[in-house]
Amino acid sequence: KRTGILRCRGCWKNRERGGTSVKLYDKPAHILHDMLREKKISAVELTKAVLARMEQVEPKVAAYLTLTPEIALEQAQAVDKKIAAGEEIAVFEGIPGALKDSICTQGVKTTCASKILEDFVPPYDATVVGKLRAAGTPLLGKVNLDEFAMGGSTENSAYQTTHNPWNLDCVPGGSSGGSAAAVAAGTAIWALGSDTGGSIRQPAAFCGVVGLKPTYGRVSRYGLVAYASSLDQIGPLTRDVTDAAHIMNIIAGNDPMDSTSSPSEVPDYTQALTPDVKGMKIGLPKEFFVDGMEAEVEAAVRKAIDDFTAMGAEVVELSLPHTKYAISTYYLIAPAEAATNLERYDGVSYGERIDGEDLVQMMTNTRTELFGEEVKRRILIGNYALSAGYYDAYYLKALKVRTLIQQDYTDAFQKVDVILAPTAPTAAYKIGAMVSDPLKMYLQDICTVPLNLAGLPGISVPCGETDTGLPIGLQIIGKPLDEATILRAAYTYEQAHEYTKLAPLGGVKG
Ligand code: GLN
Repeated sequence: KRTGILRCRGCWKNRERGGTSVKLYDKPAHILHDMLREKKISAVELTKAVLARMEQVEPKVAAYLTLTPEIALEQAQAVDKKIAAGEEIAVFEGIPGALKDSICTQGVKTTCASKILEDFVPPYDATVVGKLRAAGTPLLGKVNLDEFAMGGSTENSAYQTTHNPWNLDCVPGGSSGGSAAAVAAGTAIWALGSDTGGSIRQPAAFCGVVGLKPTYGRVSRYGLVAYASSLDQIGPLTRDVTDAAHIMNIIAGNDPMDSTSSPSEVPDYTQALTPDVKGMKIGLPKEFFVDGMEAEVEAAVRKAIDDFTAMGAEVVELSLPHTKYAISTYYLIAPAEAATNLERYDGVSYGERIDGEDLVQMMTNTRTELFGEEVKRRILIGNYALSAGYYDAYYLKALKVRTLIQQDYTDAFQKVDVILAPTAPTAAYKIGAMVSDPLKMYLQDICTVPLNLAGLPGISVPCGETDTGLPIGLQIIGKPLDEATILRAAYTYEQAHEYTKLAPLGGVKG
């Protein structure tokens, strides 16, 4: 059980010192960084170890859509040269990871898990990719998602179903399911995902890894294939909180190519990693403990809250009264923006084409045949909400409710430093369990979408597991641009608990 406070500070290091067999793929980046610097391992060795792990478990997990081992090894070799020359290396240099396949990579296919972008090779890198390349991080490949990031289980991918490494019959969550599954399976040390309504945090919770959705605008969206532009945000999925802070140091910051990116200065997030929540005011919103929440999830999250109290935090009960409108608000705004963003896939400017006898028929064929069912559902909902007769009744009203939801948080953050909640109302569920009921799937997003509507940062950290061994996530929500405080809270919690994020796929557990 991973719910109790145990004495396991730095358990990764202890395991290493204990002289047990060295499995490189199961460690967080900052530990591997120390091993690289101390020349205990080389970057090529590390990348090869992860590639070997991939050969073992990827056929079961199916996280990757495109593999780029030659790129990864080339980047690793460059890092080894630096080390051999006696140069200092930065923390993520030589540490291989994966990117959600909605993040553009120059020269490497970016499909968005859609047939319409089957052979799309971007002519440029997303800003975050450029930053990671410059930081010397080997790219292992591009990982699966729900088509255009629409979904919460990765089952909407046009290519394959990714399996949860903790139980291969279960979904990994979504839409960044490939990112979470790869990190949990040891087939990537870190991954990037995107979060429009929970797509980093919920799969992180389902796969037992750490997932951080930054404040809207903290990380550049340039080169992220747009789903709902006022909600989308890129962020890391990692083995632990320390790695999340390090990735944020690399990817956060203003970008002239994204006018919505924040000009405010980026702190060194690793400075926030002190195990101390004494006096921290923690809000507990009653609206997040919803009907239909699994008892085990609620129990694990409540236990985590008690742990925070035991560690010196002060718990304040609060109300976020408009939470009950969050799902309907999100499922008007997100599809409306999606309908607009996806207009560009017309068989002319981007991607694939299915011909027809005239222009209209060509566009109709292209969009009918190459978009998946869920994507088409969103386009229909979105265009309906935006149409002349219904704009005021639906879209405009949703925008007004969004403001009320934002106001709830502004009020709450007058009283507290962070807000604690479950990341999702359930643990991972069986593949196929919800595909026939999209509405039920939408309701799963109740704990995550409010943050996107309000633009707030949130992190999911593992806080226990169910009786059947599925991970449970605790969500820590912060004030705008205050990633530092949620990182500190998450780090403090993590340091006091024993858990490993690697799933028992013929590998280590515990
Ligand atoms: N499940 C939500 C949706 O389907 C969130 C997806 C996301 O964050 N990309 O829209």
